[in-house]
Amino acid sequence: MRARAPFGFAVETESARDDLLKSAQPTARKRETLAEKSIRAHALAARLAGLYGDVECPLIHRNTFELLIAVMLSAQCTDAAVNKVTPALFARYPDPAALANASISDIESLIRTLGLFRAKAKSLKRCAEQLIQDFAGAVPSAMDDLTRLAGVGRKTANVIRGHAFAIPGIAVDTHCRRLARRLGLTRQQDPAKIERDLARILAPPQWTGFSHRLIIHGRRVCYARKPNCAACTLSALCPSKS
Ligand code: SF4
Repeated sequence: MRARAPFGFAVETESARDDLLKSAQPTARKRETLAEKSIRAHALAARLAGLYGDVECPLIHRNTFELLIAVMLSAQCTDAAVNKVTPALFARYPDPAALANASISDIESLIRTLGLFRAKAKSLKRCAEQLIQDFAGAVPSAMDDLTRLAGVGRKTANVIRGHAFAIPGIAVDTHCRRLARRLGLTRQQDPAKIERDLARILAPPQWTGFSHRLIIHGRRVCYARKPNCAACTLSALCPSKS
């Protein structure tokens, strides 16, 4: 009887699946098939889930509007830096209508400790105006609608969809990009293409958690300059281990 591999690839038996996983151990000599890569990706996802469990959004927020603003502010900034400025920002401008009517200079004064604060202030105001004009003041859930908003790209949209609407999405930031490449799950550089490659080998229920856990692993173990392979739980499944 045929068993189903995690993402729809047929495997004859459980032992055949084990053999396939063994054969999917990355080597420099052998090129992985898509089915092998999918099985390895699910094994990586299981290890990451065991390591980091449920992922909470580290950005302080009370509703979807505040989450959207906080994620927009987090571009090229630490979450801790964003969490320092958002309480005052949200107290002064608690909803899209208030933010749409704010002056750019006042928004700038509230977020000036963050990188790119001038561009971010403009985007926040314009985004709030769009929410009022096009979405009756609510944050939309569709990818096309979200990415029409000023300052919102696919990464931000996927974070919002995953955390606020429980819609599977792969958020590709610098950590996710680096790890997906080191783990041999993609050869692409472009975030949208990396997202597409990961979506092909992982089941949708894995998307949100996998990308967020990959980000955590990049911050804690698989550093950009010197990955700590000796302490890495993923090393047996990683073609880049040193
Ligand atoms: S084994 Fe090394 S390169 Fe691979 S994921 Fe772990 S830390 Fe990164």
